[in-house]
Parts: sequence; structure tokens; C-alpha cells
Amino acid sequence: MCAMPLLATPAIGLKSRKWGEADRIVTFFTLRYGKIRGVARGARRIKSQFGSGLDPFMHSHLQLFEKPHDTLYRIRHVDVLESFLPLREDLSVLSAAARMVNTVAAVTADGDPDPPVYEALLMGLRTLAAGGEPSMMALVFQVRIMGHTGFRPQMDHCAGCGKTLTVHGSQFSPKAGGLLCAVCAVRHSHHCVALSPGSLALLQQAVRMPAAMWPRLRAEGRVRAELETAVDRYIATIAGRPLPAMDLESHAPGAGGGADAPGRAGSREQGVGRP
Ligand SMILES: [Zn+2]
Repeated sequence: MCAMPLLATPAIGLKSRKWGEADRIVTFFTLRYGKIRGVARGARRIKSQFGSGLDPFMHSHLQLFEKPHDTLYRIRHVDVLESFLPLREDLSVLSAAARMVNTVAAVTADGDPDPPVYEALLMGLRTLAAGGEPSMMALVFQVRIMGHTGFRPQMDHCAGCGKTLTVHGSQFSPKAGGLLCAVCAVRHSHHCVALSPGSLALLQQAVRMPAAMWPRLRAEGRVRAELETAVDRYIATIAGRPLPAMDLESHAPGAGGGADAPGRAGSREQGVGRP
């Protein structure tokens, strides 16, 4: 038996991938240890004790331990607290949930606990599972998470030169992290996203609105698409690479059962061999 102390924490599954013959490597955002990766031995065997507990979006209670000189934790046991099954029943909802977990994976550092981000993700998945317009919820969630992690889009002052914006700028700079004044907008026009008045209003509401009000937010397709572009480019700048396209294998339930994710055929990820 292992002599390392057993650790325990609430956790939310971010992604899961095959490892070796029968194992999985799972990335979790945990309440106590932040973002971590762990190996679940035998997780892909039919009678695995982990069941579907390692699937993305699962809210669970995790038992794990550290190995010396290894960044990978060993996952010992998982108790599912909330399985969020409605998130897997519709492709647009699944895609929105994937945007949420991918955003958290992109903007958080390994091993850095952040309880407000943890709570926001849990609340975001609950709100999504309860209904509402999925892509809208994902968008508002992304704006909120940037606020929690210190990347709140700058709206009142020019993100380039700091000047107070009396007339709201309409050029969003993902590189500068906010709206630009007219002078800076000309200077940085090559990496700006132009926002229409509707998108600006939506961005302001998303920054300020409490989570319980999100399902009431509405936007026409063009406004949403514009903001999605701005937000995606901003997150890519923060993370240093674009948000991954939704990987259906990674978000599909594991061998333990549960509803199958739509369209998972054809997107299988290759297993990763042991070094
Ligand atoms: Zn400026």
C-alpha cells in the first residue's frame, strides 16, 4: 500500500483522455488544490470502480495522493455529487459546457486553488443544466471568469493609454484586454475587434449581472457572434493559444456507462502510450 497521505477535495472534471491500455488521465479543477491532473488506474476496464465519475463536468468528491517527483496525482476514489446529465443530452448544451470547462482550463494555472472560480464553474454548469440559451450562457460565463481571474475586460478606461472613456470606444483589443480610445484604436487597428452598440451593451451586462439573472439575457445572433470572437481572441491571448475545439471523445462518458454523447463517432482520440 502507498505510504503517501491521502488527499480529499471536491472537484469538477475538465477533461479526460485515454492513457496506456486501461487507464485514464483526468484534468480536474479542484476546490483545495486548483487545477490538477491525475491518473486513474484501470478506469477503462468494464467493471472499473470509477464508473462514470471521471467524465468531464462531473462534480465529485475526489480522493487522491501525490507521488514524489511526479506532477501527476494518483486518483484513488471518486464519489459523484452531481452528474449534470442534461449537459450531455443536446449538442449545443454540450458545446456550451465544453466552452466553460475549456475556459477554466485555459485561464487557470496548475496547482493554484481559486475558490471563487470553482464556485463560478459549478454555478455556470448548474445554470446551463437548468435551461436557458446555451451559447449565451457560455459567453456570459467566459466574461465572468475573466473577471474572477484578474482579466476583467477594461470598459471605462482605454486599455491602451488609460484615458477615461467618455464616449464608449467600440474597438475591443484582445491584446490590451479592453476597449480602446479613438487614438489607440487607430494605432492598433490591425488587432482589434469592432463591437456594435448591441455587443457593447451585452458585454457590460455580462460583466455586472449576477449569475441568477443570466438565463434572462438575450442577444441576436450577430451580436453574440461578435462578442464570441472578441472573447475567444482575448482568452487565446491570456492562455497563449486558442481555446481547443470541442473534443467529443474527451467530453463523452467513459466506460462506466451513462448517456452517450451525440456524435462521438469519428472524433476518437488516440490513446497516449506510456513513456
Ligand atoms: Zn487610448
